[in-house]
Amino acid sequence: MGVDNINTIAVLGAGNMGHGIAEVAAIAGYDVNMRDIKEEFVENGYEQIEWSLDKLAEKDRLSEEEAEAALERVTPLVDMEEACGDADVVIEAVPEQMEIKKDVYGELEDVAADDAIFATNTSSLSITELADVTERPERFCGMHFFNPPVRMDLVEVISGAESDEETLETIEALAEDFGKTPVRVHKDSPGFIVNRILVPLMNEACWLVSEDEATIEEVDSTTKYGMGLPMGSFELADLTGIDVGFHVLEYMNEVLGDAYEPSPLFESKVENEELGKKTGKGFYDYEDGEGVDIPTDQQSDLVERRLLATMANEAAKLIGNDVAPPESIDEATQLGAGFPEGPVTLVDDYGLETLLETLEKAYEETGHERYAPADYLEERAAEGGFYEQETEEGVSFEVIRIEYPEEYVAHVVIDRPHRMNTISDQVLEELSEVIDLLEEDDEVRAILVTGEGDRAFSAGADVQSMAGSGADPLEGQELSRLGQQTFGKLEACDMPVVAGIDGYCLGGGMELATCADLRVATDRSEFGQPELDLGLIPGWGGTQRLKHVVGEGRAKEIILTAERFDAETMADYGFVNEVVDTDEFEERALELTADLAGGPPIAQKFTKRAFLAGRDDTESGLEYEASAFGHLMATDDLMEGITAFMGDGEPNFEGK
Ligand code: NAD
Repeated sequence: MGVDNINTIAVLGAGNMGHGIAEVAAIAGYDVNMRDIKEEFVENGYEQIEWSLDKLAEKDRLSEEEAEAALERVTPLVDMEEACGDADVVIEAVPEQMEIKKDVYGELEDVAADDAIFATNTSSLSITELADVTERPERFCGMHFFNPPVRMDLVEVISGAESDEETLETIEALAEDFGKTPVRVHKDSPGFIVNRILVPLMNEACWLVSEDEATIEEVDSTTKYGMGLPMGSFELADLTGIDVGFHVLEYMNEVLGDAYEPSPLFESKVENEELGKKTGKGFYDYEDGEGVDIPTDQQSDLVERRLLATMANEAAKLIGNDVAPPESIDEATQLGAGFPEGPVTLVDDYGLETLLETLEKAYEETGHERYAPADYLEERAAEGGFYEQETEEGVSFEVIRIEYPEEYVAHVVIDRPHRMNTISDQVLEELSEVIDLLEEDDEVRAILVTGEGDRAFSAGADVQSMAGSGADPLEGQELSRLGQQTFGKLEACDMPVVAGIDGYCLGGGMELATCADLRVATDRSEFGQPELDLGLIPGWGGTQRLKHVVGEGRAKEIILTAERFDAETMADYGFVNEVVDTDEFEERALELTADLAGGPPIAQKFTKRAFLAGRDDTESGLEYEASAFGHLMATDDLMEGITAFMGDGEPNFEGK
């Protein structure tokens, strides 16, 4: 089932999470049946949605009309059959107790349509065990929102033992349609990703205090000011509720064993009902004391090492057991917990060898299982880190991924889906290294370039990072040349390059696609060179290279109008070689690349070189383009264009 076939969503539970999820779905345009067990509970949830939509309208995040329309799409209900009988997807957010949830699924199975998908918002319970209550374990998965759903971008999409791929992809697409970023959790493992990192970290912070190795002030001073996390560990626990993390920890302890034994301090807080801000007292005292008061200067190396070592060990268990790869752990924790850098990057940067030694030493001293290093940690420490380490050229790839799906085919993925695969300096640098790497590799004979996710091939240059580079003409020229050269490398590379385009292909993204030899696009893709709307010109080869593909007349039309063009039109213009259905896109793009990879490498190389050699004098055109681009960096019109772009208004250019 694709998102296009989803019309009605039922949300079970109108509590904290349920009403938020219902609101998010209604804003995205779905009809939502929100069900709770008593009239007053659903009404209360409905009022909270109304309140929250009002706030969004006040802050101009929605128009009054959109807010009203969203509220109208929500139907509060108590009758189970009425709520779920015609739902395409049911998202369950009832209390976190196995027995309650099992009863709910038993009841649900009786009334729901056979092909409806069930998704649970559980934070810790076993997806597989819940799915077993139903007759559709393959159409069942986890869909874990973060609190509050309206504000938090992350949704962990968790595979139960029997969830099928189509179900997971549908729920991921649905999360994206809600404007969220889904991160796949490949196995149903306690805490999934974010809690699996955060909760043991919290427990370790408590152990350090329980065992008199550090004070609460030292731990929070280190986490907040030394490690640069958004809050002190204890500050965070007080805010989210100490009991919330504790229950997840207890579950981990039950399923995963002694390494997750709760520390005495953690346990005593829950026993004494000092649960944090909500009860007036937690690790800090909000009633009789001063509340959170974290010194900036009590940082401790021991605390930093132990906490990082704990994170490294949990990351190793997640990666080593195929629950999630490093990129997913970093992305989820950044989005779900506001980490400025992901935990895997943090521990890699600190040094896995040192952290492994920290664990070994602590294990020897205490004998506690939480310090027992995971096998996979030992393996990666020997390799120098979880991420693949520096290539010979000294670059490790973070925003580009290379896959080798078939013989002689390299698939290069621009991997910044949460930023629409926009092109930053880092993308340019890595792309340049990637092309070198692939050209040197005898096992690669054709390249497919795509963007991660299904929203964009690439929506253009990263405008935010460009606006930050200031009004310096020289810097502007540099930036233009760097892009021209990098994309030019792709254009001039000796083997065939296919651009697989699904979604936005705009600005710098379109200039990149222009440098491929062939272009395959889904019918929903959109193209354009919107630079002139910003008071700029295409600066990464657009004024020179596009005309070789579509002719000067069309190139001028595309650039001067700055309009959006659909895939069919771009096929008529000769830019897109083939328009395909979304469902067939990946297969077809790969098939075409594989066909080219099967061609004669030397003849292909000479063909490409001959085309390039026979062009008119592009170099001087490029030179002109770069200095023009640099000049534009210092104009008022650029600031006007960027300001209008960011604020979604119409620019008023003055020609200055
Ligand atoms: P909550 O107690 O605020 O809401 C649960 C609601 O479910 C209540 O209104 C209750 O009346 C209702 N309910 C009980 N039985 C029901 C039934 N048979 N049918 C329909 N509704 C029923 O709890 P919450 O914080 O919204 O948590 C809900 C789920 O979301 C839990 O699984 C929890 O683990 C998960 N979750 C919570 C958070 C969080 O921060 N609160 C974050 C992520 C996930």
